[in-house]
Amino acid sequence: MSKDEWCASMELRSRMLSEKQRAEYVSKGSGPRGVAVEDRFAASFRREGECWVWQRRVGTSCLPTMTVQSHPVTSARWAWMEAHGVDLTPDDLVGSTCGTGPMCVNPQHHALVTRSEAQRHAQERRLPVTSG
Ligand SMILES: [Zn+2]
Repeated sequence: MSKDEWCASMELRSRMLSEKQRAEYVSKGSGPRGVAVEDRFAASFRREGECWVWQRRVGTSCLPTMTVQSHPVTSARWAWMEAHGVDLTPDDLVGSTCGTGPMCVNPQHHALVTRSEAQRHAQERRLPVTSG
């Protein structure tokens, strides 16, 4: 699946969910009896223009985060890896490139950056580091 196809299917999945399903998927969490990661992700954002804006509470990092296979991962990073079909190393960060900032989790709006680049961008914009 290409990045575009992955994004299109995720937008469709998100749009098809009822409000009830959204609430259910978000509350169920992960684990073997939980909801598929893709469904939890789809239930957690809403499309606003071209952006996928995260709707759930964010943790102390102020970044959208999910639990995947018992490990916390920032949602934008997870989506980027899924869309591109690659795994990132801890030194590879994804940074948002659209004006919405860290609450946007659309992989089309993120680019790979190094840790130092991410920190420099954050300083320039006087924002917390928006990469995960
Ligand atoms: Zn965006």
